[in-house]
Amino acid sequence: MPDYEMIVIGSGPSGRRAAVQAAKIGKSVLVVEKGRRVGGVSVHTGTIPSKTLRETVLNLSGWRERGFYGRSYRVKQDIGAADLLARLHKTLDHEVDVLEHQFSRNGVKTARGEARFVSPYDIEITGETGEHTTVSGSHILIAVGTRPFRPDYVPFNGTNVFDSDEIVELPRLPRSLAVIGAGVIGVEYATIFSALDVQVTLIEPRSSFLDFIDKELIEEFVHELRDRNVSLRLGANVGSIELGNDGRPICRLSDGRTVTTDMLLFAAGRVGATDTLNLGAAGLDVDHRGRLKVDPKTLQTSVPHIYAAGDVIGFPSLASTSMEQGRVAACHAFGLEPPPPPEFFPYGIYSVPEMSTVGMSEEEVRRREIPYECGIARFRETSRGHIMGLNTGMMKMIFSVKTRRLLGVHIVGEGATELIHIGQAVLNLKGTIDYFIENTFNYPTLAEAYKIAGLDAWNRMSRV
Ligand SMILES: Cc1cc2nc3c(=O)[nH]c(=O)nc-3n(C[C@H](O)[C@H](O)[C@H](O)COP(=O)(O)OP(=O)(O)OC[C@H]3O[C@@H](n4cnc5c(N)ncnc54)[C@H](O)[C@@H]3O)c2cc1C
Repeated sequence: MPDYEMIVIGSGPSGRRAAVQAAKIGKSVLVVEKGRRVGGVSVHTGTIPSKTLRETVLNLSGWRERGFYGRSYRVKQDIGAADLLARLHKTLDHEVDVLEHQFSRNGVKTARGEARFVSPYDIEITGETGEHTTVSGSHILIAVGTRPFRPDYVPFNGTNVFDSDEIVELPRLPRSLAVIGAGVIGVEYATIFSALDVQVTLIEPRSSFLDFIDKELIEEFVHELRDRNVSLRLGANVGSIELGNDGRPICRLSDGRTVTTDMLLFAAGRVGATDTLNLGAAGLDVDHRGRLKVDPKTLQTSVPHIYAAGDVIGFPSLASTSMEQGRVAACHAFGLEPPPPPEFFPYGIYSVPEMSTVGMSEEEVRRREIPYECGIARFRETSRGHIMGLNTGMMKMIFSVKTRRLLGVHIVGEGATELIHIGQAVLNLKGTIDYFIENTFNYPTLAEAYKIAGLDAWNRMSRV
């Protein structure tokens, strides 16, 4: 008899959700976590810390009120690293507390240590003091997530050159910051620091960024960043990074330009945390980025009783989707049929301003040659926007001219990551433009933008 019906390696969103789901149907579950506390990248270095930092910056800087009182408005004059960290630690403690309680309430056992396979069913756990324990499981979920990609040419030093896991514990606030990599993480941190009046340079080798987002939204976003003096260095590779005589990082770009700043954040990619798992003993293999391949419907690896979920399986690498994958894996392992995943899930980018998107972009609709029409609403057209002093913010909706169905919603501006869920519901319920025209929305709200954008599209479509 194996020791556990399910062993979960990693306590991030996918591991946590799988463990609780398996426990809820009466299975014996062990979660192995090598970190000091449960929660994973999501709680300790990724999602929650970056979002807490963002919220603290927006609150202390008075960012949300500047549209009304002017750009010089501040809630707190001298914001230091300690101000940011105080709220961070409080929030993380609370998150860990909730998670530990959830595990104990559901009878999920936890073991602290690093897990590695010794056979397809046996896991060796190495504790903090080097002691080994071996446990067996009839099902195993690999939920080890990722760690930052740290190429040799970057002089990481924990003082002024950081990766995206280290930046959450930064010792002081820089006057200037270079961010390498304009993916979601790079863009979020670049704009959060810029909201603190740090002079930010965002460096990206490709000539565009966040290509999965509707181009018109990105144009709006870029316009706002330029207006705030964020320097964008797109289309140039990083040739070298060295520390100058004064210790400041100097970044030499392939187009001949040089960027010298107080601090540098390297946020160009992450790799699967699979190198110490001894996957060979389980008969498994990874790709060049350390990621595992699974059946997308069941989350099984090529060894049927071993599942993998979360960032370690790659796209879309979100806490939100990782949780769902964990649940699907646990349900499949124990013969429960989880409902099929919805056709569309939302993306939230917690930059300043935030962006959120669900469904098809205009570029994708064109590629598929679907006859379409767009409706646009500006937040300043809503009364709520006036009350809040919003000068920026935009919503774009795309509808099929033939079926009138909603195809995509794209929002940049205050509350985008919350507002998107109305669009998500209509989209996944296969709703049409009529939903937005016929329904009454609370007044005054930013959600009224749905009505305005809907009417905008409807007016154009009725002419067609
Ligand atoms: C800066 C940043 C911001 C982000 N913002 C968002 C956001 O706003 N919204 C969103 O949805 N997603 C966001 N994400 C992504 C999100 O954090 C990940 O998608 C999510 O954490 C992945 O969950 P996971 O289940 O794969 O496990 P992870 O959270 O990656 O955790 C894996 C755990 O496994 C443990 N582990 C690894 N190897 C072993 C081993 N051998 N033995 C034992 N334990 C091991 C690790 O210590 C870790 O605790 C962000 C990520 C980053 C880095």
